[in-house]
Amino acid sequence: MSERKNDFDAVVVGAGFAGIYMLHKLRNELGLSVRGYDRAGGVGGTWYWNRYPGALSDTESYVYRYSFDKDLLQEWDWDTRYLTQPHILAYLEHVVARHDLGRDIQLNTGVDSAVFDESRDRWLVSTDSGETVTARYLITALGLLSKTNMPDIPGRETFEGDLIHTGAWPEHHDVRNKRVGVIGTGSTGQQVITAVAPEVSRLTVFQRSPQYSVPVGDGPVTPEYVASVKADYDDIWRRVRQSVVAFGFVESDVPAMSVSEEERQRVFQENWDIGGGFRFMFGTFSDIAVDPDANDAAASFIRSKIAEIVQDPETARKLSPTDVYAKRPLCSKGYYETFNRDNVDLIDIKANPIAALTPRGVRTADGSECELDTLIFATGFEAVDGNYTRMDIRGRGDRTINEHWRGGPTSYLGIATTGFPNLFMVLGPNGPFTNLPPSIETQVDWIADLIQDSERRGPAVIEVTDEAEQEWSATCKEIADFTLFPKAESWIFGANTPGRPNTVMFYMAGLGAYRQQLDAVSADGYVGFTRQV
Ligand code: FAD
Ligand code: NAP
Repeated sequence: MSERKNDFDAVVVGAGFAGIYMLHKLRNELGLSVRGYDRAGGVGGTWYWNRYPGALSDTESYVYRYSFDKDLLQEWDWDTRYLTQPHILAYLEHVVARHDLGRDIQLNTGVDSAVFDESRDRWLVSTDSGETVTARYLITALGLLSKTNMPDIPGRETFEGDLIHTGAWPEHHDVRNKRVGVIGTGSTGQQVITAVAPEVSRLTVFQRSPQYSVPVGDGPVTPEYVASVKADYDDIWRRVRQSVVAFGFVESDVPAMSVSEEERQRVFQENWDIGGGFRFMFGTFSDIAVDPDANDAAASFIRSKIAEIVQDPETARKLSPTDVYAKRPLCSKGYYETFNRDNVDLIDIKANPIAALTPRGVRTADGSECELDTLIFATGFEAVDGNYTRMDIRGRGDRTINEHWRGGPTSYLGIATTGFPNLFMVLGPNGPFTNLPPSIETQVDWIADLIQDSERRGPAVIEVTDEAEQEWSATCKEIADFTLFPKAESWIFGANTPGRPNTVMFYMAGLGAYRQQLDAVSADGYVGFTRQV
């Protein structure tokens, strides 16, 4: 930490991919004084917290990184198609050290409240260590998959074994040779299930909804491949930034029903063999996420694979989804195969709900008790706004963000929200739905440009008009309604946790279109924002 002072040009909350780069931009490039905070004991965000066995990025290694540091792109090596949690954490720690950012990040410090003082045009930022600092700009990089969702199951406090959420996995916690239960079968659940199954004495999976999943296709990559990627990076990032989901693969422009049944099956099989969830949804055909027939063709293909892979027909039936294929597309290292193991059981908790946790394990509605040493909650996150709503953020007129977002979280461009002057969000509600580092960089660059432009013109307060926010929300809803995503119940629409309104929370037209929108706004003198001197 640099010498203690309590007034800054900017405060950045969060030290994951987003906060790290924001701090670099504002301090190292714009020359502002900045204080960063994270409640974690280290930097890395997602990759600090999620240390569960099997934790892996499913964006391919070469595009799950920053593009801003061209030398680092050439220097930092990888040897597998996907990056494990320790690798990504080491990478982010390296970025922080390389750009000398650590001295301005205060770790182990949660920001409890941020109040806009209208008399001084400053944010008053208070932490759980009792400190209050002031800043002209407040940047929230709180993470959209960060606030853990811990279901309130009766008897939770009575369980005498280890109870762990994957998003707060204790370092070095070992489940080998234990009787383990896992609640949740999303991306995280599938990773942890496939990783621990061979190591534990007994694994019981408590499944609420079956999921479509394809192979991830992980494996070693050669130094020659890595060299070829490095040589092509300028073009790679250019293509990524113009694409829809920004995952690096070529997105299909062929509608599924425009080809013969035989050709469809060939394409599905080819992409199943290559691996990757987003690739299967967006690289096979252009309309899996928008056309019901195309979607059904993809879903049927995956269901046929489940029937082929899973030996016990009743287990295969339980594992087979029947709904639309429109949650965040999943991939795994042999998820369905895992249920052929003798030490793995599947409990369908829609048919036989969890009644309570007991001192010894989980009791289901049929009265049976599953004895466990460890119960893993892979139950996901209060996505997108979860870390906002637990903070006391107050803007103009002392209005809280919770009041402002009572009908669901909204923003202009996923970056700013009405009534909260000089507050900029990275990955705020209604930002792009993509491989995230390229979207994070896009937003950080744009916010930094906006601040730089304003700084050049003299101190000011930048605010979003109500009209601009409403228009952006309507645009996001219109785009989302054009897709099949709202038809599936998942965190993408906040439908995974009880009591939350089901809302559009993403701009689903892709990164390329999003960047065009940002360019148009800045070219038009930051239309939608007001600037008061
Ligand atoms: P985060 O990394 O979540 O960082 C936010 C930080 O803010 C946290 O460290 C948190 O402690 C801190 N914070 C929040 N509130 C406060 C507060 N009030 N006070 C102080 N600190 C606070 N995305 C992909 O694109 N591809 C992938 O393959 C992929 N894999 C993932 C795997 C897992 C297991 C998970 C959980 C997510 C994955 N994601 C993936 C999404 C991932 O979250 C993003 O890619 C990216 O890491 C987000 O970075 P961030 O900085 O925006 O947020
Ligand atoms: P998730 O997708 O929201 O899945 C949570 C799981 O828990 C679901 O199976 C859900 O069932 C279940 N669940 C939630 N509440 C429950 C309750 N009260 N009782 C029983 N079951 C309950 O969360 P996640 O798996 O952590 O993934 C979140 C996102 O993080 C992913 O979509 C992805 O973007 C990212 N991620 C990526 C990777 C990767 O591969 N790179 C890995 C992990 C996470 P329902 O389906 O019925 O809601």
